[in-house]
Amino acid sequence: MQVKTFVVNHYEVNSYLYFDSELKEGILIDPGFYYEDEKNKLIEFIFENKLNIKYIINTHGHIDHIIGNNFVKNFLKAPVYLNKNDWFLRDNILDYSEVFGFQTNTIPHIDYDLIPNDKFLIGENEIITIHTPGHSPGSICLINHKDRFIFSGDLIFRNSIGRTDLPGGNYDLIINSIRNILFNNCGNEYLIFPGHGEKTSVLYEKENNQFLI
Ligand SMILES: [Zn+2]
Repeated sequence: MQVKTFVVNHYEVNSYLYFDSELKEGILIDPGFYYEDEKNKLIEFIFENKLNIKYIINTHGHIDHIIGNNFVKNFLKAPVYLNKNDWFLRDNILDYSEVFGFQTNTIPHIDYDLIPNDKFLIGENEIITIHTPGHSPGSICLINHKDRFIFSGDLIFRNSIGRTDLPGGNYDLIINSIRNILFNNCGNEYLIFPGHGEKTSVLYEKENNQFLI
């Protein structure tokens, strides 16, 4: 499995295309595509690599991670998933989009609830979801235990953690989610691909993240 990272919109969200280059199938994570040049880069990459995207997954419901849902849904024709605990963030998006610098008059499309322990298959690769609330009530992580990869959304960043001051955020819950849910599921060698910034690992964060020491 390969990871292609697109850094999108003015919040510099990492939208990850996680794909099998032999099978030409993949998953698109957190499509925050907003500006035209960002959308064009995705279109070019998909066409050049002849990829079939089977699933579109939102790690959580914040606007910077879901603003491109309608664009990718129309283009890729794949189902979109978001945990139901975060649908309120999507439902109210037109009330606060401008505050976050987004011009929009449409509500991002979602097809299905993203349930904990959901499994997404790309060939032999199984990607499993775990529920890791705190940054938002419906935050999830995606894990491939075979490749030892974690897509963490805004749960944890290199040397930092997700903010907890937005609606539904909770500091104690996010610390619990990292220490007792993520780290219990994933050993030191797992790589972490966060929703913003550069990639990291479970070991690096255990040793260096001031929020967890
Ligand atoms: Zn967020």
